[in-house]
Amino acid sequence: MSDNKVRVRFAPSPTGPLHMGGVRTALFNYLFARKHGGDFLLRIEDTDQTRYVPGAEDYIAEALKWCGITIDEGATVGGEYGPYRQSERKPLYREYAEKLIASGDAYYAFDTAEELDAIRNQYEAEKKTFTYNPETRGNLNNSLALSAEEVQAKIEAGEAYVVRFKMPVNEELHLNDEIRKHVVFNSSALDDKVLFKSDGMPTYHLANVVDDYLMKISHVIRGEEWLPSMPLHVLLYRKLGWEADMPKFAHLPLILKPVGKGKLSKRDGDKLGFPVFPLLWTDPKTQDISSGYREDGYFPEAFVNMLAFLGWNPGTEQEIFSMEELSQAFSLERVGKSGSKFDPDKTKWFNRQYLMSKSDDEIGQLFNREVLAKKGIEADQNKASRVCGMVKDRVDFISELWEHVNFFFEAPKEFDAKTAKKAWKEDAPELMQELKTILSDISDFSSANTEAIVKEWITAKEIGFGKVMNPFRLAMVGAGKGPHMFDIIELLGKEETLSRIDYACENL
Ligand code: GLU
Repeated sequence: MSDNKVRVRFAPSPTGPLHMGGVRTALFNYLFARKHGGDFLLRIEDTDQTRYVPGAEDYIAEALKWCGITIDEGATVGGEYGPYRQSERKPLYREYAEKLIASGDAYYAFDTAEELDAIRNQYEAEKKTFTYNPETRGNLNNSLALSAEEVQAKIEAGEAYVVRFKMPVNEELHLNDEIRKHVVFNSSALDDKVLFKSDGMPTYHLANVVDDYLMKISHVIRGEEWLPSMPLHVLLYRKLGWEADMPKFAHLPLILKPVGKGKLSKRDGDKLGFPVFPLLWTDPKTQDISSGYREDGYFPEAFVNMLAFLGWNPGTEQEIFSMEELSQAFSLERVGKSGSKFDPDKTKWFNRQYLMSKSDDEIGQLFNREVLAKKGIEADQNKASRVCGMVKDRVDFISELWEHVNFFFEAPKEFDAKTAKKAWKEDAPELMQELKTILSDISDFSSANTEAIVKEWITAKEIGFGKVMNPFRLAMVGAGKGPHMFDIIELLGKEETLSRIDYACENL
């Protein structure tokens, strides 16, 4: 690049929700930009109008925002190299297609879809595969095979055409990828890709290269599925005379399914038991819903931390990284070549680490907002925080807290039958009434105080602790679970504790 500034772009096509692999690509670009004090661009590649899905672009912007990936320049924020939506750049691509035709590096092709289908079928019948390439192009309906007059006549008659790249014959291409290093392609294995379509729109290849050049992109960091396009892209830079300004390429390893082989794809949806999308997505046509990490209760920090480790590692034992730390630590040198298996359990583990690192107050607030408020329960913030603090080490998600603490907010109406059988013996009602009398006399209802008094009483009675504590827990919780009993009753308060004892005695 002329001015050497790091400028990278995330260039999704708005053809549906963004897959987590796409978010990983965006993240690595973003981290690379941050690390080098560069710019991170969002470019919307919407040249294929047949695949356009309404809502997809907003989804992409929202997903990046949720992850904390901020855009310096791009479709949603503007910038001096705009517009950043390829459909809005439509008029500027034709010039480059024409330039390639003029230099003899591209040509007009008039073959209709029917003609090409017929040829394909003919090849298939002979058990061969048809490719539009240096071998076949001389016999097809294009400006290389037709005379200049015929071509002129067709164009004047308004016949539809596409512009194809004229792939050089048998040229060995030695290219460099920042991750894979030296890669070799032979042009004979490549086809004459369409660069410009009959609808006046460029294809992905032309638009992508032209825009990377015009937007002064320094590094193209994208998924491995684009590696096969790299030779064509490099040839386009060369033929357009832009090789000196060509960005460096880095193709990120695939994200694989947790078990077995194969790329984790959009189509996996929820079939594998975990979301493949950052946010919930409702298909605008079918109304089918695919789950998302956000709605499933993941913290964006945990999701991002997990994604960073899909293909990259810091080379140390450290696993928990904030976005800031990732921006410092990230480098393409530490991105691997081989695919990395997605691990849903590890993703939960990350979430748990972030949950545990939050203060009781933060967790309590989240719990209040995300769980209690939705259930219409109004709880004291302090109580919510204390309750959550007692059980936070037992859960991976805020939503899971409820099953551990529900009895703090709703008195048990039913009792777990199994526990009741073991805990509620014949003498239980009598013991509970005695306990009630003792508790009603206590004015300092703090955990330590009630514990001391109740234990003294049990010791004096010379009965096992379980005799009292088991039915007591059943009466307070409705089951045999929960944190320390006296912590529970401190939070419930005296009045509620006594009334639960009565309810249990009447109903068990
Ligand atoms: N529009 C392409 C995509 O959807 C961009 C590939 C690239 O980054 O060059 O992934």
